[in-house]
Amino acid sequence: MKYCHHCTAPLILRIPEGDDRERHCCNECNAIFYVNPKNVVGTLPVFEERVLLCKRAIQPRLGKWTLPAGFMENGESSLDGAIRETREEAGAEVIVRADSLYTLFNLPSINQVYMFFRAELANLDFTPGYESEQVALFDEANIPWEEIAFPVVRSTLEHYFEDLPKQQFPVRMFDVHHGEDRQITTRLISHSHTFHKVD
Ligand SMILES: [Zn+2]
Repeated sequence: MKYCHHCTAPLILRIPEGDDRERHCCNECNAIFYVNPKNVVGTLPVFEERVLLCKRAIQPRLGKWTLPAGFMENGESSLDGAIRETREEAGAEVIVRADSLYTLFNLPSINQVYMFFRAELANLDFTPGYESEQVALFDEANIPWEEIAFPVVRSTLEHYFEDLPKQQFPVRMFDVHHGEDRQITTRLISHSHTFHKVD
């Protein structure tokens, strides 16, 4: 960020009065430009205990498999964004129930928050969108575990297949830290209790 979006004057990185960290500030019109974490929203689309995955046709992680997910747009809810991404990347229509929220990942090292919702495929008319090379259903034994694009996707899939036999899908929140050696650690921070199924 180099120039003010309001008056085009050059921006200066400084700590505004009353703040505790550097921001891009405009000394001409006094605008302050805050940079905050981005939300990535997606679904875990399921059909008869098989999970729909998308093979990425774009970087990063080209050719690896992922759940349909992407950046939330302004003016939409997290769940609406997840449904939209599922339609865009997998051409899939999903049915979402009242207990859809499933995993939430805080990634402070890269300033992102990921949210995944459980969903059921409404039909099998899915087809790869622009960002996907291929879209397919996998049961647990056939998940390409070595070819999963992102740790948050792997973690969501692992928990799903762990929860599936119990038919209990608690909401879990994790903190994910990227070490300097690119080592990624995922820590469970919050876990909801599921005593009965919500319809
Ligand atoms: Zn300005």
